[in-house]
Amino acid sequence: MHLKSVELSGFKSFAKKEKLDFTSAISGIVGPNGSGKSNIAEGFRFVLGEQSMKSMRGKRGEDLIFNGSQSSSRANRASVKVTFDNSSRLFDIDFDEVSIERAVLRDGVNQYAINGSTVRLKDVVELLANANIGATGHHIISQGEADRILNSSIKERREIIEDALGLKVFQYKKQESERKLSKTEDNIAQVESLRKEIAPHLKFLERQVKKLEKALSMKDELRTLYGEYLKREQEYITYHTERVNKEKQPLLDTRAKLQEQLADAKGILERSKGADDEGREIVELEEKIADVRSQKDVLARDVGRTEGQIQFEERRLKREQEKMESGSDSLIKLSEVETVVKDIHESIEQADRSNDVSVLLTTLRKIRERLGAFIAEKKEGKSEATRGLSEEELTQLREEKEVLDKRFTDVAARETELNQRYETMRKEIESSKDESREAEREVFRIMQEQNKIEAGLSKLVSTEERIRRDDEELKRELTEAGVLIGAEISRYEEFEVIEGGHVLDVSEIVQEPREKQEERRRQIEKIKIRLEDVGGGAADEIMTEYKEVKERDEFFERELADLAKSSETLRGIIHDLEDKIDVRFKEGIVKINGAFQEFFALLFDGGTAKLELIREEKRRKKKEDELALDVDEEGMAEEEPAAGSEGIEVNVNLPRKKIRGLDMLSGGERALTSIALLFAMSQVNPPPFIILDETDAALDEANSRKYGDMIENLSEKSQLILITHNRETMSRAGILYGVTMGSDGISKILSVQLEEAVMVAK
Ligand code: ATP
Repeated sequence: MHLKSVELSGFKSFAKKEKLDFTSAISGIVGPNGSGKSNIAEGFRFVLGEQSMKSMRGKRGEDLIFNGSQSSSRANRASVKVTFDNSSRLFDIDFDEVSIERAVLRDGVNQYAINGSTVRLKDVVELLANANIGATGHHIISQGEADRILNSSIKERREIIEDALGLKVFQYKKQESERKLSKTEDNIAQVESLRKEIAPHLKFLERQVKKLEKALSMKDELRTLYGEYLKREQEYITYHTERVNKEKQPLLDTRAKLQEQLADAKGILERSKGADDEGREIVELEEKIADVRSQKDVLARDVGRTEGQIQFEERRLKREQEKMESGSDSLIKLSEVETVVKDIHESIEQADRSNDVSVLLTTLRKIRERLGAFIAEKKEGKSEATRGLSEEELTQLREEKEVLDKRFTDVAARETELNQRYETMRKEIESSKDESREAEREVFRIMQEQNKIEAGLSKLVSTEERIRRDDEELKRELTEAGVLIGAEISRYEEFEVIEGGHVLDVSEIVQEPREKQEERRRQIEKIKIRLEDVGGGAADEIMTEYKEVKERDEFFERELADLAKSSETLRGIIHDLEDKIDVRFKEGIVKINGAFQEFFALLFDGGTAKLELIREEKRRKKKEDELALDVDEEGMAEEEPAAGSEGIEVNVNLPRKKIRGLDMLSGGERALTSIALLFAMSQVNPPPFIILDETDAALDEANSRKYGDMIENLSEKSQLILITHNRETMSRAGILYGVTMGSDGISKILSVQLEEAVMVAK
């Protein structure tokens, strides 16, 4: 015995707490109409989690709460508590006693508790399902509902039977799995849609990343190319810069030397130009010497002449003196005249040789004086005065000679000086003429040398210029390489140029023809253009975003795989459960059919009854066949389940009657058939308790007895609570409760004896 008691408080007509203890296998509940018996059965439905208000004869939760009467105020909550003995672990819970309690408040809120702890409805349903106390309530047969199973659709019937067979727990598990499956599928759809959403972006990023990777590989190629190019270029520039410097220095030195030499030679030439001046000077000097010489000659002659005059005068004076002393006449002698003429001739000759006008003038003046003096002398004769005059003239002549001597000495000195100077200059000019020729040759040589040096230098300078341009280009290229490849390129000098398996040294590097380096450069340019086409973009951002989106996509992929796996597992579980349900259901049907046939034959004294698993099409066909034989309008009114669904058909064959189909049974026959089926179902998989609310109402005395026997049979497996007005049924109960309702509209429970019960029931 599992069911221990039920307590109703504020539930419907049970305004005050009432408790029924089920100490017997069969408990009877008796009482007059409307006293509240059915409310007890509904109390059971309520506490076991019934959600259909209709099956509890209400519209709202509030309808279940004691509504008050003329003498009693209404309750605020209705609660029912049912207690089970769990020592046999009927419930999968580690307590010897299990109480389930449900309460409903006026605002419609429901509260559930198991052993006093608040739980959810789901927990209650699960706990009960495991104990074969199904939610369809097949073990609680309400008043007038005994033939519910016959009235149900084939699908509902199947559900009721599944519940009775204890398959509800599997159904519940199946539903749970289906619910999980549907949720999983929702999740799959959601994840798929999320994945679909990011797919174009991911594709775009993948393309970007591919481009970046391509750019990266191009950059690698560029890095190597640049490394070699820059290294070779640097070596080339350094080598040639050093070479040019080395070659330039001696040329510069030579140039400097040549310039010095040229300066010297030019100095000489300058000086030889000075010699020309000297030449001119020497000509002038020569002229001066000639002039001085002629002056000297004139002077010499003047001196000579003056000396002659002085001697003549002295002699004449002496003769005069002698004449005077001898008193001789004064005839002019021819010789005297010839002397005068001779003197004049000499003076003229002297003057003729001189270009000097002053000499001519002096000569003329002297000639005139001489002639004058000769004539005067001859005119005046030999006089004392003449004598005095001659002496005066003589003195003058002597003074004149002195002057002339002095002048001669000066002129002679001047001539000597000029001659000396002339000689020195001549010598100088002579020697400077040699030097200048040499210098001219030297200048010519130097200039030739200089041309050579300058040609060499200009070649070196143009090389220098070319190298400088190459160096500038190298620096520009280096900057560009830095931008394209990164700062690491600045270490290009560490690059090793490898050819034929060995690292090339500088001399090998610079030997390479320049075109090859040009070729490398063209190659670099090509890659640069391709790189530009590919476009780097914000590489880091793209990579980060790609990584994020990719990770997200992979997460979705994993999630989908997990979900697909759990979906598959769930489908497997559902499939297994369906299989299990199907197998057990079919086995159950066979078993139920055995018992059904037995009870049916017992109640009807023969005949056959059978449940048949049927598909809707088949059922329709069957129905149509029946209708073709015997048209039954009412049969058409039966609810038509969806085509293709599987259900249970009840086939009965009454003894001695040609009955086809349930619709043709009488009320009593329907009740008996229902009872036979209900009892058969309960027998196969006995629930812990069964409540039968006036299931026996339609039975005659004979059938009441049979019913009573069946009850006793059934009570061996399930505890029975029988709400009844039937004496026979009451007599089978081990304990009887009377339900009464006074004028206060409140139901009360009292324990009664059979005879009392019979009385109470009336
Ligand atoms: P019968 O033998 O005729 O089937 P019964 O003993 O089964 O009668 P019930 O149907 O259980 O009687 O009880 C019905 C009674 O309960 C009615 O009198 C009804 O007024 C009362 N009742 C139902 N709901 C409430 C409620 N919320 N508050 C107060 N009384 C209620």
